[in-house]
Amino acid sequence: MRVRVLTEVAGEKILYLESTKRPADTLWDYLSTGVHGDEAGSAWGLLAWAEGNLVALKQGSFVIFPCLNPLGLRDNTRVDHRGLDINRRFHLDDDAISGPWRKMISSRIWRVGLCLHEDYDSQGCNVYELGDHRRTLSSQILADCTQLIAVDPRRSIDGRPARAGIIRRSTIPADLPGMPEAIVLFQLGCPITLTFETPSEFDLEARIQTQAAFVKAALHHAALP
Ligand SMILES: [Zn+2]
Repeated sequence: MRVRVLTEVAGEKILYLESTKRPADTLWDYLSTGVHGDEAGSAWGLLAWAEGNLVALKQGSFVIFPCLNPLGLRDNTRVDHRGLDINRRFHLDDDAISGPWRKMISSRIWRVGLCLHEDYDSQGCNVYELGDHRRTLSSQILADCTQLIAVDPRRSIDGRPARAGIIRRSTIPADLPGMPEAIVLFQLGCPITLTFETPSEFDLEARIQTQAAFVKAALHHAALP
């Protein structure tokens, strides 16, 4: 893979990796984490997946954002170097981070998008699935990746109805204060986006392994006909 610089903010490069030598009509898989800097399990989990799945990494066609908020990750804060929550700003063309991100996303055809997060008040794993496909992927994915941390039993997650750890939507909610990455990715043509969260109060090693297992399971199920 090649490492590229998306942009530079406050003296810090925001990097992404992409598979090289792919034809123009390639269907890309999008992986990202480190949008919120206080969610260590998801950042380490993506790295653990990459280290443990080199063949998949080599054979697939990926764009990977390992850390969209490097200063936030270093400071262990949700917000970025400006004190802003990046995940409410992906609709903005003139933003220092989401501006170049939107341009890059718009230039490709996507298969699936995985956005990795953690949640401090969750009691297990949950997925926010956005897509207009008939079949839900998340129940099979969660079955494959919740051996160490069970699914979130809550019936309402972040004010949205949930069942067995899954919040599923086929349309974009109208009541958002700002646009998250996964929703804008869907708007810009990615047919399925999955936002996965592990509970950040749980054991770190279990969270890392669960995040890695989620990426593996999600890519597997997204590839099935
Ligand atoms: Zn988050």
